[in-house]
Amino acid sequence: MPVAAADLAVVGSRVWLGDGSSSAALAARDGRVIAVGDDVPALIGAGTRVLDGVGALVVPGFQDAHVHPPQAGRHMTTVNLRELSSRADYLDRIASYVADHPEAAWVVGGGWSMEHFPGGLPHRADLDPVTAGKPAFLFNRDVHGAWVNSAALALAGIDASTPDPPDGRYERDADGAPIGMLHEGAAYSFESTWVPAPSSADWEAAILAAQARLHALGITGWQDAWVTPATLEAYRSLAGDGRLTARVVGALWWDRHSDLGQIAGFLEQRERAVGTFHPTTVKIMVDGIIENQTAAMFEPFHDGHGGRTDNRGLMYVDRDVLLPAVTELDRLGFQVHMHAIGDRAVHAALDAVAAARANNGASDSRHHIAHLQVVSPDDVPRFADLDVVANCQAYWAQHEPQMEEHTIPWIGAARAELQYPFQSLRRTGARLAMGSDWPVTTADPLREMEVAVRRVDPDRRATASFLPQERLTLVEALAGFTSGAAHVNHDEAGGRLTVGARADLAVVDQDLFALEGRTADARVTCTVAAGQVVYGDV
Ligand SMILES: [Zn+2]
Repeated sequence: MPVAAADLAVVGSRVWLGDGSSSAALAARDGRVIAVGDDVPALIGAGTRVLDGVGALVVPGFQDAHVHPPQAGRHMTTVNLRELSSRADYLDRIASYVADHPEAAWVVGGGWSMEHFPGGLPHRADLDPVTAGKPAFLFNRDVHGAWVNSAALALAGIDASTPDPPDGRYERDADGAPIGMLHEGAAYSFESTWVPAPSSADWEAAILAAQARLHALGITGWQDAWVTPATLEAYRSLAGDGRLTARVVGALWWDRHSDLGQIAGFLEQRERAVGTFHPTTVKIMVDGIIENQTAAMFEPFHDGHGGRTDNRGLMYVDRDVLLPAVTELDRLGFQVHMHAIGDRAVHAALDAVAAARANNGASDSRHHIAHLQVVSPDDVPRFADLDVVANCQAYWAQHEPQMEEHTIPWIGAARAELQYPFQSLRRTGARLAMGSDWPVTTADPLREMEVAVRRVDPDRRATASFLPQERLTLVEALAGFTSGAAHVNHDEAGGRLTVGARADLAVVDQDLFALEGRTADARVTCTVAAGQVVYGDV
C-alpha cells in the first residue's frame, strides 16, 4: 500500500526532538510529526513543502508560560513611544501615527519617559500641532501619569477653574491652566471617563499584531496571564476562523475585591473554549512587587538606607480567601496560576495548593506559581512535593540597575541571595516552565535563555553573573520553553518533535549548543505552527 506523502518536510538542519535525541530530518502531515530521520526521504512527494537548510537547528516551537499579548499588541497598534529617547522622536512618532490612522477618533498609546521633557513635564502645546485637532491621551512608561492635548482637556471641560481630584493632580501653569500632564488619579479618571475602551476589532488587531511578533521569535503557544471578558471574546473570534495560529491557554482574572462567588463566572467562561483557545486557568495576584514594597515578605522591608521598617508588604488575596479559593478551583478542575514575588506570598501560594491536595487529593491541574523572586529555602522543595510548576521569568535574574537601585536596598543583602532560585528548584525535582511577562520585558526566548544559562544581561556580557549557582544548563532552559511550558499548558502534543507530536517548529540560524550560552546571538529564521509556516521567508 503506498504511503501518503508528507505535506511538510525539514531537511538539512539538525532537529532537536526535545526528548534528549536529535535527528537530521522531520516530516509532518495534517499538522503532526509523522517521521524523523531516515524515514523522511521516502515521504517527500510532489506536494510536499520542503524546508531545506533554512537554519542550523530546529527545536520544538517555543511556548511562553506567562505573557500578555493583548496588552503588548495594544502597544504595537497604538502610539508606542517606549523605545524612543527624545521629545522630538516622540512628536515624530505621534505625527506619523496620526497621518497613518485617519480613521482613529483618538490618539492613544504611551510609553514616554519624564527624562525627555524639561522638568519632567510634557506640555499640551507640544502635542497640539501633531494631533490634527483630535483628542490625545498618552500614558507615561510607568503608567502613573498621562500627557494629554488641548482637545482632550476641552472635551473633558478641564480648565483653570477645575479643582484637582482627591487622588491626583492636574499640572498647571502660573495662571492655573492645566498644561496637559495628569498625575495618578487625575489620569485614571480621565481615561475611564473619556477615552473610548478598545473595541473588539481593536483587541483582535492587537492580538494578531502580538501573535505575529511572537511567531517571529519562534513562539507557537502561550499562556495569557490576564484574560478579561473583552480579550476572551477577541480570542474566541480569532480562534473561530483560524486566525489564531498559536495554541493559547487563557488565565481568567481573579478579582481580588470579590469572593468565591466569582467562580461561577469562571465556569461559564471555561465553556467558551474555541479551537486552539482554552480558557481553563484562573490567575490570582497573591502580592505586589518589591520595587514599591508591595511584595509580601516574612521579614519587614529595609528603608532603602540600611534601616529597618515594620512594613512586610501586602497580600492582595489573604490566606483566608486564598486557601479555600485554590481548593475550590482545584476541585472544579481549574488550573491556578499565581503571581507571587515575596517569600511570604510564595509560601502562602504553596500552602494554598497543599490545602487543595489535602482536601481533593492529587490532581492533574498543574498549578503554577510565577515570578518567584524571593523564595525561602524551606519552600524550595515544596514545589516538587506538591507538584507545583515553577513559572520562571528567567530574564529578570540578572544584576541590572533596577536590581541594584530598586530591589536590593529594600530587601538587603541576605534576602538578595534568595532571588530566582531556578537551579535549586530544578535540583529538588521541580518542573520549570519559562515565561517572559512581555510587554514588561522582552518576549525573545533566545535572550531569556541566555540569562537563564549565564545570569548576565546579554547586552552587558562582561558583568558578573547574578547568583551563578542558580544558572541552568542550556538543555534545562530550552526544556523550560518547550516541554516545561507545554506541560503547564496541558499541551500533550507540544514541546517535543517526536512522532505524533504537533508540528510546531522554531528554526534557528545557529546551533544553540555551540554558543556557550550566548543564545541571544542567534535568530529564529522560520516558525511552523501545526504544520503551517507562520513566519519566515522560506
Ligand atoms: Zn504578568
